[in-house]
Amino acid sequence: MDITIVGGGIAGLAVAHELAPDHDVTVLESSPGPRGGGYMIDFFGPGFVAAERMGVIDELRSRGHVFDGVRYGLPDGSQSGTIDAAPLVEAAGGRYFSILRPEVELGLLAQLPSTVDLRYDVRVVGTRDISPERAAVSTADGDVLESDLVIACDGVRSPIREHVAPGHGEILPMGYRAASYLFEDPQLASELGERLLMTDTIQRVGWLYAADAARVGVMLSERVDRTDTDRPVPDPMRLQREFAGLHPQIDQALTHAPDSFYDDLVAQSYAPRWSRGRVVLAGDAAHAPSLLAGQGTSLAIAGAEALARGLRAAGPHVEVGLAEYERSWRPTAEKVRRSGRLSASAFIPATTFQLRLQQLGRRAIGLPGVSHLVTRQFIAA
Ligand SMILES: Cc1cc2nc3c(=O)[nH]c(=O)nc-3n(C[C@H](O)[C@H](O)[C@H](O)COP(=O)(O)OP(=O)(O)OC[C@H]3O[C@@H](n4cnc5c(N)ncnc54)[C@H](O)[C@@H]3O)c2cc1C
Repeated sequence: MDITIVGGGIAGLAVAHELAPDHDVTVLESSPGPRGGGYMIDFFGPGFVAAERMGVIDELRSRGHVFDGVRYGLPDGSQSGTIDAAPLVEAAGGRYFSILRPEVELGLLAQLPSTVDLRYDVRVVGTRDISPERAAVSTADGDVLESDLVIACDGVRSPIREHVAPGHGEILPMGYRAASYLFEDPQLASELGERLLMTDTIQRVGWLYAADAARVGVMLSERVDRTDTDRPVPDPMRLQREFAGLHPQIDQALTHAPDSFYDDLVAQSYAPRWSRGRVVLAGDAAHAPSLLAGQGTSLAIAGAEALARGLRAAGPHVEVGLAEYERSWRPTAEKVRRSGRLSASAFIPATTFQLRLQQLGRRAIGLPGVSHLVTRQFIAA
């Protein structure tokens, strides 16, 4: 088959990897090259298992890292607690590591079969059905690409979701906004060492980690009005204003804010159906769980692999493969999406009282038995 994949992010590259041996695959990606921005993600669960099946786990693991854990910091720079990663790694049977989002993309690129026609700087602006067995996408340059299957991997704000599931094109904001970027600061990287810093603050939270010996990553998140769905415009001055004073090391990170960085609402997506005719959704375009569920990238890889598996098993019966993808994969995607919604209210404490409750909860995690239970639930979510 001729297959056009819209979006060369995590899901797009994963599905291209899996389909390339059997099909003519073209990937259209709007950015001029691999995207550098992004944050540190925990890689475990369904995505880990899928990456093993795909044969890319060693590549990804070699780009990842296992931190000792998290340390919580107060605005005066003192430490208010720690959580160790060891119980989490143990509960996952060792199938757990942290990795920068751009490293996942680069790892998948390194393993991409050379037969994949990957085109950067191509923005898809429209999708339409041509016949029950063909669909087409049009690009901003005025080109039209017809194919036997169009796979939309264009992220949580995918306009193709509206085409597949009318009435479900909008994102579902969770009441938070998150920005992240990487910067060079070997001194700060060495001070941070093997623990991620998370600020123990209300309304706004900062995370900071050593991405490697020279680079530091920061993520800054705040509570926002959940009725607003417009994509925010990244503004370094605003970040410096809004997040000043959370912690001295966050203040240092703010001085490195670049002009362009990832900045978006924390949002989920939902579609009651994932395919229509020869157009199918994958990754965040189909089922973004949001960063609250902590598994968006893992799910994007696992969902892409499930789609490829469904198609492979169905051979020429594409509709059967698309139905099998949805039957086998939707329950997991829904479960993670629900867990993201459940954790929404507690993601950033709104009041000092909520903050105190979280601090007490963290102390309980240190108790024998509780730590095991909590980490098991985290891995199962
Ligand atoms: C640069 C970047 C940084 C990110 N950082 C964070 C973060 O800090 N926190 C967080 O929670 N999530 C972040 N995300 C989202 C996170 O990567 C996804 O939730 C997850 O990895 C699922 O992957 P995906 O492939 O489905 O979607 P994405 O990783 O979002 O990939 C979608 C891809 O489609 C491309 N695309 C979109 N529209 C078009 C179009 N019309 N034509 C062609 N290509 C198109 C995009 O450029 C992108 O490469 C980031 C995404 C990107 C692209």
